[in-house]
Amino acid sequence: MTEALTNGHSANGITSNRSVVWVAPSNVDIQHRDVKELGEEDVLVEVISTGICGSDAHVWESNPAKAPPVLGHESAGKISKVGSKVTSRTVGQRVAIEPGFACMKCEFCIRGNPNICANLAYCGHTENGTLTQYFVCPAHMTVPIPESVSWLEAGCIQPLAIAVQLGRRANMRAHQTVAVFGCGPLGLLVMAVARAYGTKKIITFDIEKSRVDFAVKYNADIGVVCPFNTDKVEPLAFATDFMNKIIAEHGLGSGVDLTIEATGAEACVQMAVVLTKSGGTFIQAGLGKSLTSVPLFLFTAKELNMKANDAFKAQAARKDIKIVIMNQE
Ligand SMILES: [Zn+2]
Ligand SMILES: [Zn+2]
Repeated sequence: MTEALTNGHSANGITSNRSVVWVAPSNVDIQHRDVKELGEEDVLVEVISTGICGSDAHVWESNPAKAPPVLGHESAGKISKVGSKVTSRTVGQRVAIEPGFACMKCEFCIRGNPNICANLAYCGHTENGTLTQYFVCPAHMTVPIPESVSWLEAGCIQPLAIAVQLGRRANMRAHQTVAVFGCGPLGLLVMAVARAYGTKKIITFDIEKSRVDFAVKYNADIGVVCPFNTDKVEPLAFATDFMNKIIAEHGLGSGVDLTIEATGAEACVQMAVVLTKSGGTFIQAGLGKSLTSVPLFLFTAKELNMKANDAFKAQAARKDIKIVIMNQE
């Protein structure tokens, strides 16, 4: 570390840039990384808060051949330098960093969907991430944030943006009953968005009682702890029996209008499909194993609108709801 520090060159006058680097599964290290040279359209951000995401730990396990990357993609900070051609940002401005750098050239970008860019470079995944002291990026990849948003909250803006995108794709409406499977950070943010859309009722599911309790305290109207199929009942019969019980208990009529499945767990996906009413919308947001058994005939029979949203990996650590790392304080 000391050696790396003395060797670090002084781009932008910064000789020490401590960064959280992935070295092996479940093993990270703090190392100096040179700060990128500031281009004329770039800004230098002094990173202040970074949310830790379930996806952080997983992505690089699949590609150990690459140089150890800097982690992090949910950061906010203060602009400390602007490139010579930057007019839209100022030094001292508080910003969140958009971590997905779209090419703006492929058919998806041209169509106006840079979030599914074919050449997307993503911080902490395919690009060095933002869990670092200083980060250089194009000015337009920073989003100004008001003083009323705390730094701790600012560390949650990126997953909130995913939840807002999900709400839009779901076409949330005030009359709807919404089910959210998974009370992790994404699930909670989706509930907050559903609340902001004025949806009628929010019912949420998780296997962890403490998480369900938190969700109910936070936003959900109804919280349900999902049981395990310990008696090895036929899975669809198990899901149907349990959901029928929940529907009767909470007066959900013929099911819910909109379901957001944010766990990726097979049993939850099955319950979620069963719970969604005919003509309703089902959104798969949780990433599970690559092949998951779903009752496909129900999608057809119920004429469900099936959508998939920006992929999300459930967080393994279940004790804390969301971890935000604070820098430079
Ligand atoms: Zn994330
Ligand atoms: Zn693109």
